[in-house]
Amino acid sequence: MKPAQSTQGNPKKSSLLGSAPPTNSDPRPASTVINFIEGTRAVTPAELESSSITRYHVTKFYREQAINSGHYDQLKFVIEPSVEEFKSPGNLDTSGEHDNTVVPGFQHKYAQTGLLLATDRCASYCRYCFRKRIVGKDSDEIAADLGQIARYIGDHPEMTNVLVSGGDPFVLSTGRLDEILDHLLPFPHLNSVRFGTKMLAYAPQRFEDPALVALFRRIHEARKAAVIVTHFDHIGEISVDAEHSIRFLRARGVQFLNQSVLLAKVNDDPEILAATFAKCHQMGIRPYYLFQGRPVKGASHFQVPLSRGLEIAHGINQRLSGIQKTFKYIMSHHTGKIEILDLGADGRVYMRYHQNKAREKIGKIFSRPHLEGARWLDDLLEE
Ligand code: SF4
Repeated sequence: MKPAQSTQGNPKKSSLLGSAPPTNSDPRPASTVINFIEGTRAVTPAELESSSITRYHVTKFYREQAINSGHYDQLKFVIEPSVEEFKSPGNLDTSGEHDNTVVPGFQHKYAQTGLLLATDRCASYCRYCFRKRIVGKDSDEIAADLGQIARYIGDHPEMTNVLVSGGDPFVLSTGRLDEILDHLLPFPHLNSVRFGTKMLAYAPQRFEDPALVALFRRIHEARKAAVIVTHFDHIGEISVDAEHSIRFLRARGVQFLNQSVLLAKVNDDPEILAATFAKCHQMGIRPYYLFQGRPVKGASHFQVPLSRGLEIAHGINQRLSGIQKTFKYIMSHHTGKIEILDLGADGRVYMRYHQNKAREKIGKIFSRPHLEGARWLDDLLEE
């Protein structure tokens, strides 16, 4: 299929949900024709809003990489809007982020980890994003008062690391990232600063900024680990440019982990994911989480049944060497991070809390009767 055109440079054309409200002087059109994967369709701004359709924007780099990699037929589902989005049920806060927000823009769900939402923007917008309530919008869930966040961290010595996320923190200027570090590095109880980013897939040239070397050096000099969590879902997303930047930063002491989301039509194939994780390993990135897709409104069509997810997870491990199989198949549920272990011969799904607010639950194996087609813990009834 011919790729749809990005709205880059022409934000009014087919721009799904621009954030500006309609005004009398600049009325929104009654409907806009949009290039969906399934074909063009006229939709109204009200339809887009009521279905929480994420804004559309794709970098030229990603589109070209997707085509040149030979995997466009899978990767188009990452970036191109689909009419499926109008009928995918779910909610917009599947992990209880709102309940764990302790200061605007800062969440504290697990004792050791703080989560700072640095921005509501990304270089491109993933159609399956679980933070679609925030990304591409002018959200009030973004960190505005870094001083207030620093005071909270100072009052919580049990916190050992902060994850800077969003949106994608690397859409921000290096100066703004330095400002964030000004508020994190003084705390001796923080051992690491972690950045969650898909920028290495969407615009890896961002990491050629020489000021970033100084930024990561600051973290080392404060005697903390600098960690980048990449977000490669498919081997076709790993470009030569990305590999170059990763190797460059690794040589300067930055640690790399990768998280992927298991996505129907994109990577629900053990061959693809094993190749992705093997490539990560080769570049010095440790595969870390393979997330079960979440029941997000407008994105739940990406979910793969748990039984198929387990076949894929086992299939990946069967294809990798011992030192490559470092990932966990994880459901990020509002009760905690749950590792999905197996579907037993007794017809039960076996799971284990990898993270939980209640310390005593961590590591405990539990099970629920399997139900055909179940995609989330809530689909499995407690006995
Ligand atoms: S880069 Fe991350 S935050 Fe941004 S749209 Fe994709 S999944 Fe969501």
